[in-house]
Amino acid sequence: MGIGSKIFLFIGPPGSGKGSLSNLCIKEFGWKQLSTGNLCRKHIGEGTEIGKQIDFSIKSGKLVSDTIIIEMVNKWLNEQLELGENIILDGYPRNLDQAKALDKFLKDKIGNIVFHVIVFELPDDVIIERLCERYVCQNSDCQVVYSMIPGSKLSPKKDMICDVCSGPLKRRSDDLRDSVIERLKIYHEHEGSLLNFYKNSGQMVMSLNAKKPLSEVFYDFSKLVGLEDL
Ligand code: AMP
Repeated sequence: MGIGSKIFLFIGPPGSGKGSLSNLCIKEFGWKQLSTGNLCRKHIGEGTEIGKQIDFSIKSGKLVSDTIIIEMVNKWLNEQLELGENIILDGYPRNLDQAKALDKFLKDKIGNIVFHVIVFELPDDVIIERLCERYVCQNSDCQVVYSMIPGSKLSPKKDMICDVCSGPLKRRSDDLRDSVIERLKIYHEHEGSLLNFYKNSGQMVMSLNAKKPLSEVFYDFSKLVGLEDL
């Protein structure tokens, strides 16, 4: 994260395509992404001490404690300090305390930062359908997302096998209906205060219609943030 690089905050409900748009930006532009959700799942998959502590929160759709998440993110950001690429924070910050912690960390490290806050908009009923049919590659370095909604363009070519790395596909433990509803509830509880924090501090807050197919979301995103100017 060198001087002049941009930080995109992808804020949106679960299943709104933050990870899919991030993956496209990584592929097309070589940006860096931190998904706190992926990082948490990696800890659980590897059976680390942190993984054991957070397993229950994740399964039940609750937020992991701020202390654990903030430490993970700051460690990652520290490692990016010398790199010049634009970065995406996907799923962080998730509440006001995390937003304040991010602000403080970056101010201390590199001074005032202009964030590009991208808000993914999608109705809850579409999210519930999407997540209840979502399957993810189990290879923790891949984690490509598929949909089993009949006729979806995101269906895998081979049944339950990842098109990219041939890893097995599985549902996420928190994509069960009750957890999805809990995650949506928590998102809506924090969304207002989080966005007000950025609006009140004069940051750019931009909405993205996330109901469209990914290629159109990518096009809209590129226009919204003026990619030609980056
Ligand atoms: P995600 O992959 O972004 O949907 O996140 C999956 C789960 O990881 C969430 O439901 C939380 O339990 C946990 N998690 C991810 N990011 C955060 C965060 N910023 N703060 C607290 N918990 C998080």
